[in-house]
Amino acid sequence: MKEILEEHWHHLPETELFEFLKTSPEKGLDSFEVAHRLEQFGPNRITQKKGTSPLVLFLLQFHQPLVYILLAAALITSFLREWVDAGVIFGVVIVNAVIGFIQEAKAVKAIEALSRSLTSAATVVRSGERRQVPAAELVPGDIVLLQSGDKVPADLRLISTRELQIDESTLTGESVPVHKQSGVLTHDTLLADRSNMAYSSTLVTYGVATGTVIATGNQTEIGRINELIASADVLATPLTRKIARFSGLLLYVILGLAAVTFVVGVLRGESWLDMFMAVVALAVGAIPEGLPAAVTITLAIGVSKMAKRNAIIRKLPAVETLGSTTVICSDKTGTLTQNQMTVQEIHAGGELYLVSGSGYEPEGAFSRNGEQVSPEQCQALRECLLAGLLCNDAVLVRADGEWKVEGDPTEAALVVSAGKSGLEREVMTQKLPRRDAIPFESQYQYMATLHGDGERNVVYLKGAIESLLPRCSQALSASGETIRLDVDQCHRRAEEMAGKGLRVLAFARLEPTGGVRQLRHDDVSTGLTFLGLQGMIDPPRDEAIAAVRICQAAGIRVKMITGDHAITAAAIARQIGLNGGGDGAAQPPALNGGELAHLSDAELIVAAERTAVFARVAPEQKLRLVEALQASGQVVAMTGDGVNDAPALRQANIGVAMGITGTEVSKEAADMVLTDDNFSSIEAAVEEGRGVFDNLVKFITWTLPTNLGEGLVILAAVFAGVQLPILPVQILWINMTTAVLLGLMLAFEPKEPGIMQRPPLDPAKPLLTAELGLRIAIVGVLLLAGSFGLFEWQLSAGSSLGKARTCAVNVFVFGELFYLFNCRSLRHSLFSIGMFSNRWLLWGVGLMIILQFLFTYLPAMNMAFHSQPIGLGEWGVIIAASLIIYIVIEVEKWIRRRTKPGTP
Ligand code: ATP
Repeated sequence: MKEILEEHWHHLPETELFEFLKTSPEKGLDSFEVAHRLEQFGPNRITQKKGTSPLVLFLLQFHQPLVYILLAAALITSFLREWVDAGVIFGVVIVNAVIGFIQEAKAVKAIEALSRSLTSAATVVRSGERRQVPAAELVPGDIVLLQSGDKVPADLRLISTRELQIDESTLTGESVPVHKQSGVLTHDTLLADRSNMAYSSTLVTYGVATGTVIATGNQTEIGRINELIASADVLATPLTRKIARFSGLLLYVILGLAAVTFVVGVLRGESWLDMFMAVVALAVGAIPEGLPAAVTITLAIGVSKMAKRNAIIRKLPAVETLGSTTVICSDKTGTLTQNQMTVQEIHAGGELYLVSGSGYEPEGAFSRNGEQVSPEQCQALRECLLAGLLCNDAVLVRADGEWKVEGDPTEAALVVSAGKSGLEREVMTQKLPRRDAIPFESQYQYMATLHGDGERNVVYLKGAIESLLPRCSQALSASGETIRLDVDQCHRRAEEMAGKGLRVLAFARLEPTGGVRQLRHDDVSTGLTFLGLQGMIDPPRDEAIAAVRICQAAGIRVKMITGDHAITAAAIARQIGLNGGGDGAAQPPALNGGELAHLSDAELIVAAERTAVFARVAPEQKLRLVEALQASGQVVAMTGDGVNDAPALRQANIGVAMGITGTEVSKEAADMVLTDDNFSSIEAAVEEGRGVFDNLVKFITWTLPTNLGEGLVILAAVFAGVQLPILPVQILWINMTTAVLLGLMLAFEPKEPGIMQRPPLDPAKPLLTAELGLRIAIVGVLLLAGSFGLFEWQLSAGSSLGKARTCAVNVFVFGELFYLFNCRSLRHSLFSIGMFSNRWLLWGVGLMIILQFLFTYLPAMNMAFHSQPIGLGEWGVIIAASLIIYIVIEVEKWIRRRTKPGTP
């Protein structure tokens, strides 16, 4: 069918459209037809554009300065007919490329798999029922409902719309949202002007609509141009770029040094060949070639650890930034609280009613002044409950003996409270069918529905008290008469409820005169009758209370930014233990969105720092708050779920979206998505972020001394005019084996104790502090002294050159091996973090020792690497030298722990 109609969907009259697609807007498709079409058209998924081919990725591994140097060395050695050396160098280059390729491909795959795990859902009508299905299961003919915040899941022809606006920038590049409406367009309307179509992967920024699927997967417009983000080949973050720049700079320094060494050597009468080999050894030894790969791998491991703790990273740089987070701005409902609402109190007709029962079970009773009452006795109460039931889109379903909510829990609580009074939705919607609705949008803070037969109508409204009360001109009494509205009393009652931490919703009604068929905001701006208030509890999450405490101990301030009432928000904040200043400072009062609007930018900077609770905040104000906090140097993580939260999420250092309740728009804008919507997962991600950063620093502190030591050994030998203690192929051996078997294992190092008792990382602080620089220098010099000393001692004792060099190589390998245990913690001693807490590292060490024995004793290895067997006495000295390194560094750590706690 696609072939005939490819260009004509926008032009078809609706009856023909439905006939053609064999569907109907009321019933949609049935499950049998869906299964059949799914087989015919395949899943609604766009095949990802192929990224760089594996062959190119493999060849790119050779595109590194160090590899060029090695290849030149291999070529020159083959010219000199040093076949063994040339073979070893070639072999090392290839093995290095294979390892790099496999590791990189694995990291890319892991991150890609995670981003795919964030599946999106679509609301459809199938067999006459509304339900949520994975977007991948949509088929042509499906009836899809759209609302603001949704990502359009397939190409749709719109059947009905209400103030629909869609951001089509993914398709057309035009960032201003376009208005859409149903209807028939002329045949020659261009794609960008087809206002009766909604295209896959564009974003609904406002309004609601219904449409029927006309194309899925690769048949959609976006699928055909296939411009979706190609697979993420490049794993770049600010840190990896910084390290790449550092490596580049180091390369020039080393090449300069190599040139000087070469000239000095030749001038002193050394042979060109010897000097060439010395220079190659210097370059190979001093360039930290394993560094970029280790950074990428450590970040990738961090990403998968975070995913296990329910935080999916969408943008890799977030892994680094998490460790430096100083402020977390969190929503209240659902993130800090359970989002399991139960109506407990109702104020109607001037009386207060208590509602018993808990959860979504519609079992409970109403009481007034301690006596049970029937809702029939109070007209205002009944109308208030009815308004809650009809002005409502949530559905409660009973599955496996448990009541589950489809839709907004706030609304579900209202279905339950109405159910406790005997009001049933099926019965009431038959009596008062819904004609139109203004959906809830957080900027208006109310929802309205129009019911009736077109002649005799009633409008029900529910929303925030500040939004509803000014529209009301009278109230409903217990006996059902309209009476004077006591605004002050209503506010007092609402504040009493809010003071107990209840979320308060106000209800009102309007009986419009004349036939109304459509509702507009203007229609409900005045003349409403106030019906009452319903107050519902939403208890704090226990994990959130614990996580807030951990954050505060870690020097991270937690702020609540909510659309809810200031008094409710403050009461919940008290229960959760939020305090603005972090160090037990008294909790400042909540700041209201209205007050916030009057603050100048400078005043807001001060207020943003000091206040812990921001209530009735409009989404645009979230952006101002993030900017104010950033202006005072904070690194801000901000949560958001709505369509209007996207700018704040983008501005925040870490935008956090909600995986369950969040809109697709907010997820697209976020750096991180929480799969459980829980505040404690942000805290977990921060903890992992700090761990990742620690492990990176550990790797760098471990790897650089080898490079420094090897470089120094070669320089010292050339300048002293003696034989090289280590040959280029031997340096290659050391760097290759230790980086993979020892250094990389630090990426698996568990988080250190007390990681959340330290202040956040200062992003301006260099990766390597002066203290760590000193440590690297000490180890580098000790390695130089150990290997050079042992080499000269062996020669003077009459050992062969091969044996002396084998001793020098072993000093490096075992020195690095012992030093690896120092590096497992930058501050604590090995005993306090546990000898066996990193099993990967122990395996690596075991394997390294075996390889080193092979290097020393296996004849084939002796031939390839010019090594020779050594005796027990030599081993004794090698181990003693390595042990000295270990002890010196532990003493240095101990001194630093005592003199400067809290560093590095
Ligand atoms: P957050 O998740 O940001 O902590 P919130 O969920 O309380 O806050 P909003 O959803 O913007 O914030 O709700 C703000 C106010 O709007 C609520 O206090 C309530 O009075 C009202 N409200 C919330 N949901 C609805 C709804 N479905 N219909 C009508 N009014 C609503």
